Amino acid sequence: MINSVGEVINMYSCPACGKEDVTGQITCIRCGTDLSLLKTLDSVADAWFNRALKEIDDGNSGRAIQWLSACCAARPMDAEALRIRAKVWGMLGHWKEARYSLEEAREIDPDALELKEIESALQVMEKQHEEKLQEERLMGKVSLKTVRRSTRRKKNKKKRK
Ligand SMILES: [Zn+2]
Repeated sequence: MINSVGEVINMYSCPACGKEDVTGQITCIRCGTDLSLLKTLDSVADAWFNRALKEIDDGNSGRAIQWLSACCAARPMDAEALRIRAKVWGMLGHWKEARYSLEEAREIDPDALELKEIESALQVMEKQHEEKLQEERLMGKVSLKTVRRSTRRKKNKKKRK
């Protein structure tokens, strides 16, 4: 996989000797370890990623999250999948999860242009969330007053007896 500034991102390294840039190879050129299972897992992750894109196209954001999460678990260095997961979490209204995914993507590929776009969309969502919280706080005060009034009434009743 190639990142936004044209550098090749290593999706995985050799589990035996730790050699990097072995992505797509059948055996490790340094120690000879069989990497075919890792190569298969990598193509499975690609398939999951594509399933996620199809679910997004079909409007099934919830299902897309499942495929993207599977892809990100199998391939934690996949910044593109992390960015798309951030975007879909945002579409679902889960801006906290979206932000978490976005920060993970930023650590792997800090120069991606899409980061800014998702970031500003998330800021709008957070602002809306904050406004909603303030509304809820206001509503909370209103209902508190109602509770106090009714207890006072009960006490008054007792005094009358
Ligand atoms: Zn090796």
